[in-house]
Amino acid sequence: MTHRAFGVGESVASVHRDRLRRAAAEAADRSLDALLITPSTDYLYLLGYRAPAMERLTCLVIPAEGDPTLVLPRLEEPLARHELGTLADEVELVAWDETEDPIRVVQGLVGGARRVGVQDQMWARFALRLRAALDPAELVEAGPSMSALRSVKTDEEISRLRAAAEAADDAMRTIAAEPLSGRTEAEVSARIRELLLAAGHQEAGFAIVASGPNAASPHHTAGDRRIEVGDAIVLDIGGVRDGYCSDTSRTAFVGEPEPEFLVLYEVLREAQRAACEAVRPGVPAAEIDAVARDIITEAGYGEAFIHRTGHGIGLETHEEPYLVSSNPTPLVAGNAFSIEPGIYIRDQWGARIEDIVICTDAGGERLNTSSTELLVVD
Ligand code: ZN
Ligand code: ZN
Ligand code: ZN
Repeated sequence: MTHRAFGVGESVASVHRDRLRRAAAEAADRSLDALLITPSTDYLYLLGYRAPAMERLTCLVIPAEGDPTLVLPRLEEPLARHELGTLADEVELVAWDETEDPIRVVQGLVGGARRVGVQDQMWARFALRLRAALDPAELVEAGPSMSALRSVKTDEEISRLRAAAEAADDAMRTIAAEPLSGRTEAEVSARIRELLLAAGHQEAGFAIVASGPNAASPHHTAGDRRIEVGDAIVLDIGGVRDGYCSDTSRTAFVGEPEPEFLVLYEVLREAQRAACEAVRPGVPAAEIDAVARDIITEAGYGEAFIHRTGHGIGLETHEEPYLVSSNPTPLVAGNAFSIEPGIYIRDQWGARIEDIVICTDAGGERLNTSSTELLVVD
């Protein structure tokens, strides 16, 4: 299935033309002579279609100066021409035949370069051979050049993130209205995936259902455990809708919530709310993490908050900017990220609240609008 980064009705080619130029400029700013972009969300972002990542090399070569070239296997050329449309006027296609060595083709295009950025998820079989072929050029991650572009969303991208968030909210509201006790985590997870698809996602990427003691494991995989009265349940769900990702978490309690859990939950809710309210351009990403962490730590749960506060989101569920204490980068308007503190008490229970938030000039805007109150379920 192909996912267009942008749909019909817009000047698709001009959006991608602009992105290609800006990617070249970001590379130049970092003293890179070229970027080598293999199939990935970076490739999708730049060219507007998903190419298969496989043993045959497809590589978009973006020189800091001059026009980009797309090196690709001969059999992928018709797909590329079809998907690129008028963008093919500016991106030269160089197709290689089955017996040719595509590494030599790339070498011919960037030979003599001193510093080259390679796509962060490029397969080792290509990266290692390119390093040898381009010696003595230094190969570095293309990530920073690409993130500089991708982490600042356009209005169109934000509206897609909003639609994805609304769809995930719909799925969350529906599942929270169903009786959960007596069902297994896996059954509830399968049901959530159905709901995500029914709400307009093309891919139901994940549906964490972590019940009882399993809720203490932030990335628990839904399993055979049967949900029972007295369980806290962390639900963390998301997928892809029109190319853009959703990701939201809510916490439920089966039956009358235990007072001890309510205390923990209110601390978490306050931390998540305060972190959302601290969002504005210029605030370091680390500070958003600190706002949530300080509240949780002061309440005595510091050791139980075992992950960063959030991650950027867009074409990828996890991308820049990361809201982590080691990231001093100031937020800018157009950043999109999760704010998702959690408290995890081993062998007992856990809780997490996650919203996708946009940094706007006026402050943080939540894309998830479902209530963050503890969901009391049957
Ligand atoms: Zn996660
Ligand atoms: Zn999540
Ligand atoms: Zn997340």
